[in-house]
Amino acid sequence: MADTIALGQPTVGDEELDAIRAVFDSGWLSGAGPTCQSFEARFAAEVSGTDHALATSNCGSALHLGLSVLGAGPGDEVVVGDYTFPATGHSVAWTGAKPVFADIRPDIWSADPASVEAAITPRTVGIIAVDVFGQPADYDELRAIADRHGLWLMEDAACSAGATYKGRQAGSLADIATFSFHGRKGITAGEGGALTTNDADLAAHARKLHTYGIAPAISREGSTDLPLPVFDEAGYNYRMSDLAAGVMLAQLDRLQTLLANRRRVAAWYGELLAAVEQVAAPVALDDREHPWQSYVVTLAPEVDRGAVAGYLRQHGVQCNFGTYASHLQPVYGFEGSLPVSADLFHRHLAIPMHANLTQSEVERVVATLKDALTAARSN
Ligand SMILES: *Cc1c(COP(=O)(O)O)cnc(C)c1O
Repeated sequence: MADTIALGQPTVGDEELDAIRAVFDSGWLSGAGPTCQSFEARFAAEVSGTDHALATSNCGSALHLGLSVLGAGPGDEVVVGDYTFPATGHSVAWTGAKPVFADIRPDIWSADPASVEAAITPRTVGIIAVDVFGQPADYDELRAIADRHGLWLMEDAACSAGATYKGRQAGSLADIATFSFHGRKGITAGEGGALTTNDADLAAHARKLHTYGIAPAISREGSTDLPLPVFDEAGYNYRMSDLAAGVMLAQLDRLQTLLANRRRVAAWYGELLAAVEQVAAPVALDDREHPWQSYVVTLAPEVDRGAVAGYLRQHGVQCNFGTYASHLQPVYGFEGSLPVSADLFHRHLAIPMHANLTQSEVERVVATLKDALTAARSN
């Protein structure tokens, strides 16, 4: 059998190894050191429109920091776009606030602004919009809703490195945005994350909380006496290591190439899938740049998705469901129905998408998908 085509795959090589060697040579391997500082400066410049970037251990910790500095806590409600990874809803729960899920747009799967507004109660303090698979949500509409109700707005930009919305960079579209650099994302250090914001006070507070609530050690480097840090808040260790920051610097050098490769893969899929019945290709809107963290197709309601997935896997093509309908997860105790999210949770199929895919691999994925649909129909 031909080689398995991976669902996702990082693009790493000698550049990343050289970057790790440079961090070894620096002598500072732990977090919040000089390499993290370089990465933060580069990333803040990359996300034009935001002045501050904080490197974190992952996106979940960045979400938790963002919610903490915005003041979410017990008794509060936060409206969250329903179709997302567990980190989004969980991070709200970590603060003691309650996530209240909003249904999603049927085309791009981010929070439907009307559903967000309908979920607002007197207890609501903020909104988290999710850029689903990296494509930015409707920030103009969401900002207007937030302003009308006196709420803050966060952007879960976990998959969005390099994406844009109406010419503005993902990460600059809300009061605070959070990124993931997990191995399945567009740029990666294995694990990692970042928080971006334009608000210097929020950035400084998040920085303090991400290192146990004390000023980071690097701020005491070069002191002529022995400054004694005090802690007045129980912060966390949410730092990115300088080793990971080195890898991230090399990944930032690659970002535009990786995005171009993914766009090309998406274009190949779009052309080939137009001729496949029972499969709808994902929608990329004209006013935003999709970074294609994942490529997720929607199967017609009558298709046996499990059978299709089983066939693909048996024939060397990895696949998965899309992401989660959060409101269906028992951990949140959410009552109410969000029909669009629930439906797509059961009909989405993620097929291979990464920057190393070749045209012949994409052709094989689509040919195998066609065969899988035929096989599933005859079951
Ligand atoms: C991957 C992902 C996360 C979690 O990222 P980690 O870095 O693993 O914490 C959060 N939100 C969304 C939308 C994601 O896709």
